[in-house]
Amino acid sequence: MEVIKLKQWIRNLICDYIKNYEQRDDIKTEWKEAVVGFADADDKLFLKLKKAVSPTHAAPGDFLKHARTVICFFIPFADWVSESNVKGKYSSREWARAYVETNALIDDMNRHIKKELEKMNFQAALIPATHNFDEENLKSDWSHRHAAYIAGVGTFGINNMLITEKGCCGRVGSLITNLEMEATKRGNKENCLNKAGGSCSVCAERCVNNSLSVDFFDRHKCYSLLLENDDLYSEMGLTDACGKCCVALPCSFVNPNSD
Ligand code: SF4
Ligand code: SF4
Repeated sequence: MEVIKLKQWIRNLICDYIKNYEQRDDIKTEWKEAVVGFADADDKLFLKLKKAVSPTHAAPGDFLKHARTVICFFIPFADWVSESNVKGKYSSREWARAYVETNALIDDMNRHIKKELEKMNFQAALIPATHNFDEENLKSDWSHRHAAYIAGVGTFGINNMLITEKGCCGRVGSLITNLEMEATKRGNKENCLNKAGGSCSVCAERCVNNSLSVDFFDRHKCYSLLLENDDLYSEMGLTDACGKCCVALPCSFVNPNSD
Protein backbone atom coordinates (compact mmCIF):
# COMPACT_ATOMS: atom_id res chain seq x y z
CA MET A 1 0.00 0.00 0.00
CA GLU A 2 1.29 3.55 -0.73
CA VAL A 3 2.36 5.66 2.27
CA ILE A 4 -0.53 8.13 1.94
CA LYS A 5 -3.04 5.31 1.62
CA LEU A 6 -1.53 3.57 4.66
CA LYS A 7 -2.01 6.68 6.76
CA GLN A 8 -5.58 7.05 5.56
CA TRP A 9 -6.18 3.36 6.25
CA ILE A 10 -5.02 3.80 9.86
CA ARG A 11 -7.11 6.97 10.25
CA ASN A 12 -10.17 5.14 8.93
CA LEU A 13 -9.55 2.18 11.25
CA ILE A 14 -9.50 4.58 14.21
CA CYS A 15 -12.50 6.72 13.19
CA ASP A 16 -14.67 3.73 12.20
CA TYR A 17 -13.84 1.89 15.40
CA ILE A 18 -14.89 4.89 17.52
CA LYS A 19 -18.15 5.35 15.59
CA ASN A 20 -19.05 1.68 16.02
CA TYR A 21 -18.07 1.65 19.70
CA GLU A 22 -20.42 4.53 20.37
CA GLN A 23 -23.33 2.44 19.07
CA ARG A 24 -22.90 -0.24 21.73
CA ASP A 25 -25.82 -0.48 24.17
CA ASP A 26 -23.53 -0.45 27.20
CA ILE A 27 -21.68 2.74 26.12
CA LYS A 28 -23.05 6.15 27.13
CA THR A 29 -20.19 8.46 26.09
CA GLU A 30 -20.05 10.11 22.66
CA TRP A 31 -16.92 11.25 20.88
CA LYS A 32 -15.94 13.62 18.09
CA GLU A 33 -13.63 12.59 15.24
CA ALA A 34 -10.11 11.75 16.40
CA VAL A 35 -6.95 13.74 15.63
CA VAL A 36 -4.31 11.26 14.40
CA GLY A 37 -0.53 11.69 14.02
CA PHE A 38 2.50 9.52 13.28
CA ALA A 39 5.92 9.77 14.92
CA ASP A 40 9.21 8.34 13.68
CA ALA A 41 10.16 5.76 16.34
CA ASP A 42 13.76 7.00 16.08
CA ASP A 43 12.83 10.64 16.70
CA LYS A 44 15.45 12.04 19.11
CA LEU A 45 12.72 13.55 21.25
CA PHE A 46 11.87 10.06 22.55
CA LEU A 47 15.31 9.91 24.15
CA LYS A 48 14.86 13.39 25.60
CA LEU A 49 11.78 12.14 27.46
CA LYS A 50 14.09 10.42 29.89
CA LYS A 51 15.03 13.91 31.06
CA ALA A 52 11.63 15.54 30.67
CA VAL A 53 9.40 12.83 32.19
CA SER A 54 11.38 10.13 33.98
CA PRO A 55 14.86 8.50 33.75
CA THR A 56 13.06 5.18 33.26
CA HIS A 57 10.95 6.51 30.39
CA ALA A 58 11.02 3.95 27.59
CA ALA A 59 11.80 4.49 23.91
CA PRO A 60 9.66 2.80 21.21
CA GLY A 61 12.40 0.21 20.59
CA ASP A 62 12.12 -0.94 24.22
CA PHE A 63 8.61 -2.19 23.50
CA LEU A 64 9.07 -3.50 19.96
CA LYS A 65 12.18 -4.67 18.17
CA HIS A 66 12.61 -2.81 14.88
CA ALA A 67 9.99 -0.23 15.89
CA ARG A 68 9.45 2.23 13.03
CA THR A 69 6.37 4.31 13.81
CA VAL A 70 4.37 5.42 16.83
CA ILE A 71 0.71 5.86 15.90
CA CYS A 72 -0.87 8.47 18.19
CA PHE A 73 -4.38 9.80 18.51
CA PHE A 74 -6.50 12.21 20.53
CA ILE A 75 -10.16 11.23 20.98
CA PRO A 76 -12.24 14.32 21.86
CA PHE A 77 -15.27 13.89 24.10
CA ALA A 78 -18.59 15.19 22.77
CA ASP A 79 -19.15 18.77 23.98
CA TRP A 80 -21.94 17.74 26.39
CA VAL A 81 -19.49 15.55 28.33
CA SER A 82 -17.16 18.50 28.92
CA GLU A 83 -20.00 20.92 29.65
CA SER A 84 -21.31 18.55 32.35
CA ASN A 85 -18.02 18.95 34.22
CA VAL A 86 -17.90 22.74 34.52
CA LYS A 87 -19.64 23.18 37.88
CA GLY A 88 -18.71 21.85 41.31
CA LYS A 89 -15.57 20.58 43.00
CA TYR A 90 -15.95 16.96 41.99
CA SER A 91 -15.95 15.40 38.58
CA SER A 92 -19.38 15.04 36.95
CA ARG A 93 -20.70 11.49 36.55
CA GLU A 94 -20.59 11.98 32.75
CA TRP A 95 -16.91 13.00 32.83
CA ALA A 96 -15.96 10.11 35.14
CA ARG A 97 -17.81 7.67 32.88
CA ALA A 98 -16.20 9.14 29.76
CA TYR A 99 -12.79 8.60 31.35
CA VAL A 100 -13.51 4.91 32.06
CA GLU A 101 -15.23 4.23 28.73
CA THR A 102 -12.57 6.02 26.67
CA ASN A 103 -9.74 4.11 28.36
CA ALA A 104 -11.57 0.85 27.54
CA LEU A 105 -12.22 2.06 23.98
CA ILE A 106 -8.52 2.84 23.48
CA ASP A 107 -7.39 -0.56 24.78
CA ASP A 108 -9.97 -2.42 22.63
CA MET A 109 -9.21 -0.31 19.56
CA ASN A 110 -5.46 -0.78 19.88
CA ARG A 111 -5.96 -4.55 19.99
CA HIS A 112 -8.07 -4.26 16.82
CA ILE A 113 -5.41 -2.16 15.02
CA LYS A 114 -2.73 -4.66 16.08
CA LYS A 115 -4.77 -7.53 14.57
CA GLU A 116 -5.25 -5.59 11.32
CA LEU A 117 -1.51 -4.85 11.14
CA GLU A 118 -0.73 -8.52 11.77
CA LYS A 119 -2.95 -9.49 8.84
CA MET A 120 -0.46 -7.50 6.72
CA ASN A 121 2.50 -9.21 8.43
CA PHE A 122 3.43 -6.22 10.58
CA GLN A 123 3.70 -6.20 14.35
CA ALA A 124 2.51 -3.81 17.05
CA ALA A 125 3.22 -3.29 20.74
CA LEU A 126 0.41 -2.09 23.00
CA ILE A 127 0.70 -0.01 26.15
CA PRO A 128 -2.38 0.39 28.42
CA ALA A 129 -4.32 3.65 27.97
CA THR A 130 -3.60 4.60 31.58
CA HIS A 131 -2.29 3.47 34.98
CA ASN A 132 1.14 2.53 33.63
CA PHE A 133 2.80 4.89 36.11
CA ASP A 134 5.09 4.60 39.10
CA GLU A 135 2.97 4.87 42.28
CA GLU A 136 5.73 6.75 44.13
CA ASN A 137 6.56 9.57 41.73
CA LEU A 138 3.35 9.29 39.67
CA LYS A 139 5.45 9.39 36.49
CA SER A 140 4.87 7.03 33.64
CA ASP A 141 7.39 4.92 31.74
CA TRP A 142 5.45 5.70 28.60
CA SER A 143 3.66 9.00 28.22
CA HIS A 144 0.98 8.79 25.53
CA ARG A 145 0.71 12.58 25.68
CA HIS A 146 4.41 13.14 25.02
CA ALA A 147 4.36 10.56 22.22
CA ALA A 148 1.39 12.41 20.70
CA TYR A 149 3.28 15.70 20.97
CA ILE A 150 6.18 14.13 19.06
CA ALA A 151 3.64 12.90 16.49
CA GLY A 152 2.42 16.46 15.91
CA VAL A 153 -1.02 15.86 17.47
CA GLY A 154 -0.78 18.97 19.67
CA THR A 155 1.31 20.99 22.12
CA PHE A 156 1.16 21.15 25.90
CA GLY A 157 -0.92 23.62 27.86
CA ILE A 158 -0.25 25.04 31.30
CA ASN A 159 -2.77 22.42 32.47
CA ASN A 160 -0.38 19.63 31.27
CA MET A 161 -2.92 18.54 28.68
CA LEU A 162 -2.25 18.24 24.99
CA ILE A 163 -4.00 21.06 23.12
CA THR A 164 -4.94 19.76 19.69
CA GLU A 165 -6.88 21.30 16.79
CA LYS A 166 -9.94 19.92 18.64
CA GLY A 167 -8.95 21.23 22.06
CA CYS A 168 -7.89 19.30 25.14
CA CYS A 169 -11.10 17.64 26.42
CA GLY A 170 -10.56 14.00 25.56
CA ARG A 171 -8.07 11.16 25.91
CA VAL A 172 -4.79 10.40 24.17
CA GLY A 173 -3.53 6.96 23.14
CA SER A 174 -0.68 5.46 21.17
CA LEU A 175 0.73 2.19 19.86
CA ILE A 176 4.04 1.21 18.34
CA THR A 177 4.50 -0.67 15.08
CA ASN A 178 7.27 -1.88 12.79
CA LEU A 179 5.31 -0.54 9.81
CA GLU A 180 7.24 2.41 8.40
CA MET A 181 5.18 5.54 7.78
CA GLU A 182 6.13 9.12 7.08
CA ALA A 183 6.14 11.15 10.32
CA THR A 184 3.63 13.97 10.76
CA LYS A 185 5.36 17.35 10.70
CA ARG A 186 5.15 19.18 14.02
CA GLY A 187 3.95 22.79 13.88
CA ASN A 188 6.26 25.52 15.14
CA LYS A 189 3.69 27.34 17.28
CA GLU A 190 2.54 26.82 20.85
CA ASN A 191 -1.20 26.14 20.97
CA CYS A 192 -1.44 27.30 24.61
CA LEU A 193 -2.08 31.06 24.72
CA ASN A 194 0.13 31.48 27.79
CA LYS A 195 3.05 29.58 26.28
CA ALA A 196 2.59 31.58 23.09
CA GLY A 197 3.35 34.72 25.10
CA GLY A 198 -0.15 35.74 26.19
CA SER A 199 -1.45 36.18 29.70
CA CYS A 200 -4.05 33.38 29.77
CA SER A 201 -4.28 31.44 33.04
CA VAL A 202 -7.90 30.28 32.95
CA CYS A 203 -6.99 26.62 33.55
CA ALA A 204 -5.00 27.47 36.71
CA GLU A 205 -7.84 29.65 37.99
CA ARG A 206 -10.22 26.73 37.50
CA CYS A 207 -8.19 24.26 39.58
CA VAL A 208 -10.40 23.09 42.46
CA ASN A 209 -7.57 21.87 44.69
CA ASN A 210 -4.83 24.53 44.52
CA SER A 211 -2.65 22.06 42.63
CA LEU A 212 -2.03 24.11 39.49
CA SER A 213 -0.67 27.57 38.86
CA VAL A 214 0.97 29.09 35.80
CA ASP A 215 4.46 28.03 36.89
CA PHE A 216 3.79 25.18 39.31
CA PHE A 217 2.02 21.82 39.35
CA ASP A 218 1.70 19.76 42.53
CA ARG A 219 1.27 16.27 41.06
CA HIS A 220 0.62 14.62 44.42
CA LYS A 221 -1.96 17.17 45.54
CA CYS A 222 -3.74 16.83 42.21
CA TYR A 223 -3.71 13.04 42.50
CA SER A 224 -5.30 13.19 45.96
CA LEU A 225 -8.34 14.88 44.42
CA LEU A 226 -8.45 12.33 41.60
CA LEU A 227 -8.66 9.60 44.25
CA GLU A 228 -11.56 11.41 45.94
CA ASN A 229 -13.38 11.24 42.61
CA ASP A 230 -12.51 7.56 42.38
CA ASP A 231 -14.19 7.01 45.78
CA LEU A 232 -17.21 9.00 44.66
CA TYR A 233 -17.78 6.82 41.59
CA SER A 234 -16.42 3.55 42.96
CA GLU A 235 -19.14 1.53 41.21
CA MET A 236 -17.78 2.57 37.77
CA GLY A 237 -14.26 1.16 38.08
CA LEU A 238 -11.16 3.30 38.37
CA THR A 239 -12.29 6.93 37.96
CA ASP A 240 -9.17 8.77 39.15
CA ALA A 241 -10.02 11.78 37.00
CA CYS A 242 -11.03 15.40 37.60
CA GLY A 243 -10.82 17.50 34.44
CA LYS A 244 -11.88 20.81 36.02
CA CYS A 245 -8.76 22.43 34.54
CA CYS A 246 -9.73 21.18 31.03
CA VAL A 247 -13.26 22.53 30.75
CA ALA A 248 -14.63 26.05 30.11
CA LEU A 249 -11.27 27.17 28.70
CA PRO A 250 -10.36 28.90 25.45
CA CYS A 251 -8.55 25.64 24.55
CA SER A 252 -11.27 23.14 25.60
CA PHE A 253 -12.66 22.50 22.10
CA VAL A 254 -10.28 24.23 19.70
CA ASN A 255 -6.67 25.29 19.24
CA PRO A 256 -6.95 28.89 20.47
CA ASN A 257 -3.74 29.89 18.71
CA SER A 258 -4.63 28.52 15.30
CA ASP A 259 -3.85 30.61 12.18
S1 SF4 B 1 -6.54 27.85 29.57
FE1 SF4 B 1 -5.07 29.25 28.63
S2 SF4 B 1 -3.16 28.94 29.80
FE2 SF4 B 1 -4.49 27.19 30.25
S3 SF4 B 1 -3.86 25.62 28.78
FE3 SF4 B 1 -5.58 26.74 27.86
S4 SF4 B 1 -4.66 28.35 26.61
FE4 SF4 B 1 -3.06 27.58 28.01
S1 SF4 C 1 -7.03 17.75 37.53
FE1 SF4 C 1 -8.25 18.87 39.09
S2 SF4 C 1 -6.95 18.95 40.93
FE2 SF4 C 1 -5.65 18.39 39.20
S3 SF4 C 1 -4.79 20.33 38.47
FE3 SF4 C 1 -6.65 19.96 37.26
S4 SF4 C 1 -8.30 20.97 38.39
FE4 SF4 C 1 -6.55 20.82 39.75
